[in-house]
Formats: sequence, C-alpha cells, structure tokens
Amino acid sequence: MERLRRTDIKYVKGVGPKRGELLEKELGIRTVADMVRHYPHSYVDRSKIYKIASFEGEMPSVQVRGRFISFTTQGDGSKSRLVGLFTDGSRAMEIVWFNRIRSIREKYLPGTEYVVFGKPTFFNNGWSMVHPEIDSAAKAESEKGMRGVYPLTEKLRNRSITSRTLYEIMKTVRQTLLPTVKDPLPRSLRQRLGLMELREALEAIHFPENHTQLQKARERLKFEELFYLQLNILRYCRNRDRKSSGYQFKKIGRFFNGFYNEFLPFPLTEAQKKVIREIRADLGSGRQMNRLLQGDVGSGKTLVALMCMLIALDNGSQACLMAPTEILASQHYETISKLVGAMGINVKLLTGSTPGKARERIHNQLEDGTLHILIGTHAVIEDNVKFRNLGFVVIDEQHRFGVAQRARLWGKNFMPPHVLVMTATPIPRTLAMTVYGDLDVSVIDELPPGRKPVHTSLRYDQNRLDVYKALGRQLKEGRQAYIVYPLIKENEKVDMRSLEVGYQLVKETFPSYRVAYVHGRMKPAEKDHQMMLFATHQADILVATTVIEVGVNVPNATTMIIENAERFGLSQLHQLRGRVGRGGDQSFCVLMTKTKIAKETRKRLEIMTSTTDGFLVAEADLKMRGPGDLEGTLQSGMAIELKIANLATDGQIVQLARDAARDTLDSDPELSAPELAGVRREMTLLFNRSVDWSQIS
Ligand code: ADP
Ligand code: MG
Repeated sequence: MERLRRTDIKYVKGVGPKRGELLEKELGIRTVADMVRHYPHSYVDRSKIYKIASFEGEMPSVQVRGRFISFTTQGDGSKSRLVGLFTDGSRAMEIVWFNRIRSIREKYLPGTEYVVFGKPTFFNNGWSMVHPEIDSAAKAESEKGMRGVYPLTEKLRNRSITSRTLYEIMKTVRQTLLPTVKDPLPRSLRQRLGLMELREALEAIHFPENHTQLQKARERLKFEELFYLQLNILRYCRNRDRKSSGYQFKKIGRFFNGFYNEFLPFPLTEAQKKVIREIRADLGSGRQMNRLLQGDVGSGKTLVALMCMLIALDNGSQACLMAPTEILASQHYETISKLVGAMGINVKLLTGSTPGKARERIHNQLEDGTLHILIGTHAVIEDNVKFRNLGFVVIDEQHRFGVAQRARLWGKNFMPPHVLVMTATPIPRTLAMTVYGDLDVSVIDELPPGRKPVHTSLRYDQNRLDVYKALGRQLKEGRQAYIVYPLIKENEKVDMRSLEVGYQLVKETFPSYRVAYVHGRMKPAEKDHQMMLFATHQADILVATTVIEVGVNVPNATTMIIENAERFGLSQLHQLRGRVGRGGDQSFCVLMTKTKIAKETRKRLEIMTSTTDGFLVAEADLKMRGPGDLEGTLQSGMAIELKIANLATDGQIVQLARDAARDTLDSDPELSAPELAGVRREMTLLFNRSVDWSQIS
C-alpha cells in the first residue's frame, strides 16, 4: 500500500492533472491508494444482453448488442445533439449525445457491431439512451462477467468521467501498482480466519470473477476495517483501565444491608441480582468502573442503581444520579428519598430551577460531606458543584452522553468515580461493541413478575370512534391515558396545529374527564405543573408530544394512543409504549395512522404490533434505518468512517473482529511483534489524529 499511497492519482495513465483534480475534489481520491479503496457500489453482469423489444417499465442500466443505422444532428448551436439510430434486430432505439458530437460521429461506424450499456428511458413513443458506454462487440466479449459500477457525482458525469473511466483507471492500476500491495494482516491471523489476501481481495472487489469470490473479498475488506476499529477501542479501554485505578469499595455495610433487610419494597428479580453482583465485583476490583446497564422499560433499573449507590455510601463515598429532564430527576428524587428516607440518608435534588438559597445549602453539604446522594439534571455537572468525595455516578437514560462528557464528571475528583450509564434503549450487540465499545455491558433481561405485555394494535383514522370507545372504558375504570402527537422541527407549525386540534377534540369527546396538556415549547414550570397533574391523578388524560418519551412512571396509566405513528422511529415508539404496562393491569398501545400508508411503513409498524421485546424492535430498527447518528456518538477520534462494513448488517464480522482484536492485544499489547508492523502502520495512518486519551480518561 505504501507505493500506492505515495503515488498521486494524476500520474496514472489516462488521468492527468485535470481529471486528477476533479477526482480529488468530487470523491476525495488523491492517491492511487484512495482509488483502490473506492469500491464499486454494485455490479452489472456483462454477459447479460437485453433485447430492445423486451424493455418495459422503469429499466435499470442494461446492455444491448447491435448496429448503428444512421446518425443525425438535431437542433443547432449550443443546443445541438447527435442522435444515432441503433437496432438489435428486435427493435430500434435512439442513442443521444449532447456534447463531443463531432468526435463521436467519427468514432462509431454504421454497420459495425457494438455493445451499448446505459439506462433506457421511454420518451416520445420510443426508447432511448443518453450517453451510454459503448464498446466494440469483440471487446465486450473479452470482458464478460461482472463489471463494477462506481459511486460518482453529477459533476463528474458532466465532465464525462463515468463509471467506465474509473474502471479503466483501475485496470491500469491492476497492471502496475496493485501487485506491490503487501498484506498488513499477519499471515497466521488470515489463515486462522480463512481471510483472502489483501491484494487478491482488492483485485476481486474491482474485477470479480464470480459472486463467491466477490463475497470473500468483501468479507476480508470488512473484517479489516472493523479489526482496526476494534483494536483502537480495546487499546483505549486497556490503557484507561491500566491508568485509572478507582475507588475500591470492599465493604457491604449498614446502608446496603439495612435497606436490603428492612426497606426493600419487593424481592429483586434474578436479573436485578445478577447485575448488582456484576457491579459489586467491579466496585471491589480497585479499578474504575465504566458500565452500561441496559434494561427494557420497566425492568427496574432505578432500584439497581440505588443499591449500588448504597455500596458507595457504605464505603464513605458520595453518589450522584443524573437524569436528562427535570421531571425525571424529580421523579427519581421522590422514589429514592421515599425508599431510603427512614435510614438517615441525606438525599437532595438539584436542577436548573432549584432556588439560590437551597442551591447554596446543597453546595455546602456536598463539600462538607453531609450530603450523601445528589440527584439532578445537567445542573449537577456545572463547574461550581463540588463534591467532597464522589465515588459513584449514575447517568440515567443518556446513553448518548459521550466519553468526553463522562470525563467531565471525573474531573471533579482526583480519583475518577465509578460510572454506571443506564438506558432502556436496547442497543444491538454490534453497536454495543463499537459505538459503546468502551463500556462494559450489563443487561436486565427480565421484567418484574406480574407484568402483562402491552397489547399493541394498528388503527386508522376511520377507526377513531372505536378507539375512543375503548379508551372510554379504561377511563371509566379509573385508569389514565396518554395521547401523543409528533412534534418534528420541519413540520413544527402543522404539528402544533394538529396537537391543539387533537387536544380540543379529546376535551370535547371526554367532557367529564380532566385533560392535561404538555409540549416541549412550554415554559418548564408550566410543563412540570401539567405533568404533576397527571402523575398525581388530578388529570385522567395527558395530551402530549414526545416530551414524555423517557422514564416517566405512572403505573395507573394503561392506554397509550400514538397519533401519526408512521412519523416516529421504532425505538421511539417502543419508548413511548413503555410508559404503559407499568402496573399489574392489562395495558394498550394504539398506533394511529392515516388510511393510506406505504407498504414499508406498514411493515415497520407491524414490528411493533408483533413484539414487545425491545431488543427485537431495536434490531429491526437498526436494519431498516442503519446506525444513523449513533455512529456519530463516538466522534472524538475513536471512530473511523466505514467504507464497506455496515454495523447494522455485519454483526458477525463485528464479533469476529472484536475477538481477533482481543486475542491480538492479549498476546501483544503494544503490537510490537514484527508480524504486526503492518497493522501498526495502518492504525497510525487511520487514527493519527493522535488523540491523547490519557487527557480524557
Ligand atoms: P426502568 O428500568 O424503566 O427505569 P423503574 O426502575 O422505573 O424501571 O421500575 C419500574 C417499576 O417497577 C417501578 O414502579 C418499580 O418500583 C418497579 N419494580 C422495580 N423492581 C421491581 C421488582 N423486583 N419487583 C416488582 N416491581 C419492581
Ligand atoms: Mg428509568
């Protein structure tokens, strides 16, 4: 690869400075190495020849073999075009050029057999192709098989740099520089995993002979990308673990035991016990913990977090719990102070709306150590909040809280506190291993006993009457309900209107019930007030936007109606659904859509009606939407742009790469063996933004 990296693309035969510049500007291809890593996005089968008479509907790009009958120039000046009449015996079509008319006219001879490759369009009662690729039949015959189709830009096409051009460039590279490519992966690793050699893989991905070979090549190239990524993540984790010794909490004392024996409101589920054991082992290890706790909505994460905080307290440390919203923070505060209030544990709430006096008192108690547990919003990481001795931090429902932000919490101590990140958003394994690869993972995979799965159904506008009837029955039994509307930036005005109209409609339909109303644009105090009305059952129905998406706990609410459900993502729908089914009663979730929805949309929504398992929902979501902005969560230097691997669909290769990376680091933490020289070099090139992780950890 070295020579390819050193060779500017413009020096490849047929490229030159002008095209070289365009390639760099449009596709970021500056060197031959960049070109080699610019993989085709698909392939056409060169041995397949279509008949013009069989064209129909929306056609893909196809090949036709035939002869030109005549050429005519139409129009004049800058608008002139050349039209060639082309027939394959079954029918004729027009081939159209808008530029280089003279040279083309001289180049192609009537009567000679050619193969043209392009996208047929139906126009003026006949088929035509604009600017197709054209080869003599003899040449096409010699290049049978699969031909790569390369990603391009409109601008390149206008300057007549086509997929064909890139193919020709690659053909030259294949003859000249490709043979010099050495494989950075050690032979032993390649052999063990049955991976194709790099040179062979690169050749095969640009010039595949068949599907099996192409498949092997893709696997090899995907593996390599993911292997470097995993090596980088694991290397970072090990570095951090080596460096950051943490508080060692050996004691299980009066807080934990007292709570367990006297105040535990219900027996722990096996899954809760298992997770507490895992965390306890971390806390006793003398190394700083960074753990992600996943558990579906309602699985009882709060209790686990509380019991772990009690271990910290038993060892003379303070603990802190941070939630994304005021509502959630105050709910946690209520729950926790109720649970441990009788034990002489000092719990306080700190949010943006905590008044100055109270705030001051909290600051003082934190510094003199008399405050044991601080619960709050982002307010708890403001610079003027100083703990005497913070040993354990819980971050709730904020799995997007990146490494750097977590690091800010550590900055508050001379010794980094243990960190537990909790989320109900199920994170598929592939993502857990990459985007969150720096965290250990615990899972609560069991709900408390007696929960009934939420009954979910898909309903259309014309069923609204029935839906409201069913809702009426629930209300009559004293249950509460959520009705959720989308509020999405691009459609803010329209959304606001439908939210308001919906609110009025609900009030009119249920005149004897009390309806609360919240959306994100309200003042926080008003929002909190409305939420409190619902939480304390002074309101029966809550009409809301997704502000209620996360964490809110009102076990008496048994109905969730989601309007315009097609506009929500699956994970979001799952979160919303998690607001009901929190008590022992059968709960219902109704997904409302307009009557006409696309097939894809219906399929997506049917995932919701077919399962209540958050992991299945998340996997399906990931497959349908791709990892999206989740990939961005790891921005800070740990991620690379994946050119060929796909976190959503390449789960197995991610696992393979992770295992291989772990084995490699186990036997050679510094990657210092001579056979790893290539890997080391690639890593430096990929990650040479040289992030100093010690700064962050
Ligand atoms: P989440 O994991 O979604 O944050 P919570 O911690 O809010 O879930 O718990 C959901 C509900 O389940 C709460 O009302 C809580 O009191 C209850 N709960 C938690 N653990 C248990 C258990 N072991 N048995 C019964 N109910 C439990
Ligand atoms: Mg929760």
